[in-house]
Amino acid sequence: MPRLHFKTFGCKANQYDTERMRQAVESAAAGAVRAAALEDADLCVVNTCTVTNQADAGARRFIRRAARVNPGVRIVVAGCSAVLRAEEYRGMAEVAGVVEGHDPVAVRDEVLRGRAVRRETRGLTVLRRRAGATRGWLKVQDGCDRKCAFCATRLARGRSRSRDPDEVVAEARVLARTHPELVITGVHIGHYGRDLAPRTTLTALVRRLLDEVAGTAETAAPRFRLGSIEATEIDDGMLDLLAGSGGRLAPHLHMPLQSGADPVLRGMRRWHTREQYRRRALEIAARLSPLGLGADIITGFPGESPADHADTVALVRELPFTYLHVFPYSPRDGTAAVRLGGHVPERVSRERGRELRALAGEKAAGYARGRAGDTAEVVMEGSGGTALTGDYLRVAVEAARAPDPSILHRGRLSAGGTRVILDTPEAARVN
Ligand code: SF4
Repeated sequence: MPRLHFKTFGCKANQYDTERMRQAVESAAAGAVRAAALEDADLCVVNTCTVTNQADAGARRFIRRAARVNPGVRIVVAGCSAVLRAEEYRGMAEVAGVVEGHDPVAVRDEVLRGRAVRRETRGLTVLRRRAGATRGWLKVQDGCDRKCAFCATRLARGRSRSRDPDEVVAEARVLARTHPELVITGVHIGHYGRDLAPRTTLTALVRRLLDEVAGTAETAAPRFRLGSIEATEIDDGMLDLLAGSGGRLAPHLHMPLQSGADPVLRGMRRWHTREQYRRRALEIAARLSPLGLGADIITGFPGESPADHADTVALVRELPFTYLHVFPYSPRDGTAAVRLGGHVPERVSRERGRELRALAGEKAAGYARGRAGDTAEVVMEGSGGTALTGDYLRVAVEAARAPDPSILHRGRLSAGGTRVILDTPEAARVN
């Protein structure tokens, strides 16, 4: 009876892939149980990330520690870093096997090598649940056709490949039995459907999900939320869905910006200008209220001057962001960016990051205060007593009884917008 431990680094796409690997291994190994602690596991799968050199180093550190705390564990390495650094992992004495990518069947076979197991592939194309989470990840595509200079993810994951829409709808129906919210995720979801025949779009897919994954007698209709999507790839049809779905498509967009300065955007090989992003963000904000609006920003990209940074700050100040994810630039071998001149000292990138985070904090607090007194539909999170609104406010939950995590709840946002009070007269099961 093997005891399994999964360790995931990186993004939602990787977390989704881990769940598919887990499902494949568990359905092949009769009686397999989950080991929450590494020390208790016989088998350990490390699903790696390669977004920066630090991410690769983090995976290597974890592997060494795993073998130290549990010398008997069989370690299999998979994921993005395993694609780009396969030989390095094969050379580690602690590693029993390497799968170059995310194929759940290949991971299953490597993990269970030498064991008598069921090698069925039927039933493995659709994920049934995300273990231990209220919010499910629904991965609709993999890979990316863009060529951002800092990005190793596209090198590891290859060209954009979309899943068949029927399969996505079928998976969403199954996941909705467990998860009251499903996040539509991938590596570059804005290009969903371009590679399919007949060609289709993300908007068409989301429309189908809203229409066809509705409530049943046993299961409430889930709320959908778009994962990270480029500002230039959000069409007007998607805005219609966001504006007209009555909250079933969460009013939240996370649109990577990376920089608010054209010279830096060019160096990054981004395809849009500052103005294109700015105009689309303002158009979107004019149509949707409330709107959770987030972005990723990299500070200290090679060549970023003080004036470039000031342009980014000015753009952040102008646009109605409700939160930001700010990262200091971190080099990744094999990307075009590592060959660029104009190195920015780490101290400077960190300082620029601090400034942007402080500004984002002020904007977030101002937005939350503006929501005080409004009703909100929330999904519970973990066991920490927090919940998420459709517009992506993370709020503390006040309720007379522990709320059922398998459904959405309605409540009223407190002064400051940091808490949601359930059990008010209008509090009720939403769907
Ligand atoms: S859009 Fe750019 S950053 Fe995003 S996955 Fe593609 S290449 Fe990487």
